[in-house]
Amino acid sequence: MSKLEAPKLSNDCFALPAGVDWTPVDAALAMLRDRLAPVAGTRVCKVGDAVGLILARDVIAMRSNPPEPNTAVDGYGFAHVALMGDGPYELPLAQGRAAAGLRFEARVATRNALRILTGAALPDGVDTVVLEEDVRTDGARIAFNGPIKAGSNTRRAGEDVVAGDVILRAGRRLTPADAALLSAVGVAEVHVFEALRVGVLSTGDELVEAGDDAVAGQIYDANRPMLLAQLRAWGMEAIDLGRAPDERDVLQNMLDAGAKKCDAILTSGGASAGDEDHMSALLNETGSLAMWRIALKPGRPLALGMWAGVPIFGLPGNPVAALVCTLIFARPALNLLSGAGWTEPQGFMVPAGFAKHKKAGRREYLRARLLDGQVDVFKSEGSGRISGLSWAEGLVELPDGALEITHGTSVKYIPFGLF
Ligand code: AMP
Ligand code: MG
Repeated sequence: MSKLEAPKLSNDCFALPAGVDWTPVDAALAMLRDRLAPVAGTRVCKVGDAVGLILARDVIAMRSNPPEPNTAVDGYGFAHVALMGDGPYELPLAQGRAAAGLRFEARVATRNALRILTGAALPDGVDTVVLEEDVRTDGARIAFNGPIKAGSNTRRAGEDVVAGDVILRAGRRLTPADAALLSAVGVAEVHVFEALRVGVLSTGDELVEAGDDAVAGQIYDANRPMLLAQLRAWGMEAIDLGRAPDERDVLQNMLDAGAKKCDAILTSGGASAGDEDHMSALLNETGSLAMWRIALKPGRPLALGMWAGVPIFGLPGNPVAALVCTLIFARPALNLLSGAGWTEPQGFMVPAGFAKHKKAGRREYLRARLLDGQVDVFKSEGSGRISGLSWAEGLVELPDGALEITHGTSVKYIPFGLF
């Protein structure tokens, strides 16, 4: 009788051997950064409609802010040379007043003061303003204590923005505050990139739609609603390409149709090298398949390729891995395609509220949330635990090397909102 052989593979079989062809996360990111460029079209857009869109050209201030010297407070304006000594001072009041939008046309005589209200342009003869609250007046004179510096409570023309300055650079995603800045310097229209059109396709014979009946062996498609919503939250145009069965010709037709209306496509599932991994097989037929074996957890190979000129990000089917790969790889890549440039989330160091022995050889992302100034991780690292994704408010990123984490060790936390 021949010898009964023990299994060749142990539980530990996926431990990373040293010095093998696993691509470190940073190297994978650097490759994406090198190889992608903006693909979105551009158009002219009213500033009011442009918030959330990405500038396609630098913007130059048409006018300075403030356009002319003005007062920052309600008070009384005068020429600083009028003041003798350190005070207290008394100045006669000139007739009239200066208010925002209501220019005081006359010259204020030296050693006179004029009533002046916030935002009013400084009239000739006024370079300094004393705050109303610091003044006594009988209607004909004002009295106040010194000393007061020349130029107090005034704003210089252009102290904020000078006409001709570049105020915002191409690649910026416009914020509500940017709408204020643009408007303040007289810019009514900007060149923007069209929102990037990103298709989302789920693959797998086992998938059914939530709301439909699921029989044994079927699971609900969780990735599609997640990815569509994430893309929308990023200001992209999310295009639902539906679910593809594990049938190569059907998937092929769906990719053909998707490529016609998308700038990029995210697929999930079928991206490994198995019999039912039709996504990678089809991309392989185009000759463009690149299986990126990236040294990260959670994540299986990323199948990257081009379909009819459209970049495809073949994400792992597992929802936890799908989201992590989307945040870490697809997010910066899509940003680059959309004209926003390469962006990596900053994250910040926080004391760990957990303990873990992390092995060398790959980067790890843990589902995490902040609690009382510490970062906690989900009770299980099981990559099938979708509830942990929902529990999490961000990811802890552990470096490629080994790390012994005890309570209080500083670890990097990246809230989902920073991706
Ligand atoms: P695959 O990458 O196709 O081998 O899928 C890996 C695992 O993820 C399998 O357990 C699939 O059933 C699961 N999966 C694939 N796509 C989805 C999806 N859209 N929603 C939820 N689970 C999925
Ligand atoms: Mg599958």
